Amino acid sequence: MNELTSILESIPVDPLTGSVAVPIYQTSTYVQESPGVNKGFDYTRTNNPTRKIIEDIVAKLENGSRGLAFASGLAAIDAVVKLLKSGDEVIAVDDIYGGAYRLFTTVYNKFGITIKFVDTTDASNVEKAITENTKMIWLESPTNPLLKISDIEAIAKIAKKQNILLVVDNTFASPILQKPLNLGADIVIHSATKYIGGHTDVLAGLVVAREPKLGEELKYIQNATGGVLAPFDSWLLIRSIETLKIRVENHSQNALKIARFLQTRDEIKTLNYPGLENHPNFDIAKRQQKLPGGIISFSFKDDTEESANLFVTSTKIFKLAESLGGTKSLVCHPASMTHKSTPRDVRVKAGVTDSLIRLSVGLEDAEDLILDIEQALDKVKTGKRG
Ligand SMILES: *Cc1c(COP(=O)(O)O)cnc(C)c1O
Repeated sequence: MNELTSILESIPVDPLTGSVAVPIYQTSTYVQESPGVNKGFDYTRTNNPTRKIIEDIVAKLENGSRGLAFASGLAAIDAVVKLLKSGDEVIAVDDIYGGAYRLFTTVYNKFGITIKFVDTTDASNVEKAITENTKMIWLESPTNPLLKISDIEAIAKIAKKQNILLVVDNTFASPILQKPLNLGADIVIHSATKYIGGHTDVLAGLVVAREPKLGEELKYIQNATGGVLAPFDSWLLIRSIETLKIRVENHSQNALKIARFLQTRDEIKTLNYPGLENHPNFDIAKRQQKLPGGIISFSFKDDTEESANLFVTSTKIFKLAESLGGTKSLVCHPASMTHKSTPRDVRVKAGVTDSLIRLSVGLEDAEDLILDIEQALDKVKTGKRG
């Protein structure tokens, strides 16, 4: 069955009323016939019919055995880290999401879980970093904000050989563009706040496990720790899933046009987009992703914060805000926003330089978006505001 058909078919019609839209079961508890005899639901932290629908849909979309929905992407990440115990070591992509960096280095370090950051764009670096305590490999591909690509299949082979869990944060690609479980990963995570939610109106996280046993463990952690997604927010995600494919494809088509335009501008120094032939891992991206995605980052030749500032305050359609993956185009200056708490030398060394700009390309008309960027670039060129 075609993917879009199967997405739409996987959203059930309400058996009670025939309601085409999924009902929101806004309840915390359920009446029991006698103690322990119920209709499969006893308390909403454990199970909720609306949440179950989004959990089943994402499991199908990622080709896993079990999906779980959390109150945010970080709550989803937190649940996965709880599979580990004191003394375990994690190897992670060096351009890891800032919130995950903070969680590992300031919260889980207190519980004896250590993390080692490596440049995973070369799979052999991962192999070299493994010790007998390594229990988890943590990838993002593409990464935020540098759009680095790692070979998920090659790293999955290394992980499997040594019995290490491979986790992929698939937020940037979405399940439409990339299916890490098919490439050998064990667990996929999404900040559904981004593309899956897609309308900048809900905070949510999703986890999908390939093997049922791992799915059961994660389900246990979800219920035991309680960071579940609310029924209404689950409903918002179900609503968004229906347009996920057409949105993500359109985001990507718009982004490719913008990246091609940016290639023609000589005030730009580095341009990061996995859909450009000169991206260092263009071939891997092409193999493991259906399309390059909707995020672009770039820096200016003078590499100053002033140029970045002038650009982000000059765009009109691209609104200056954190987050990404929504219908409306957003622009962000990582050095002063998402990476503000990272020491300057650390972030510059990693490639997040003073003038780096991140674009989350929305669903507006591509021509309008290019004109908006063009007029802002002209201002940077002349150094004039207004
Ligand atoms: C935003 C984001 C997260 C965190 O998700 P929240 O929903 O904000 O908690 C995790 N990973 C990536 C790649 C993200 O972009």
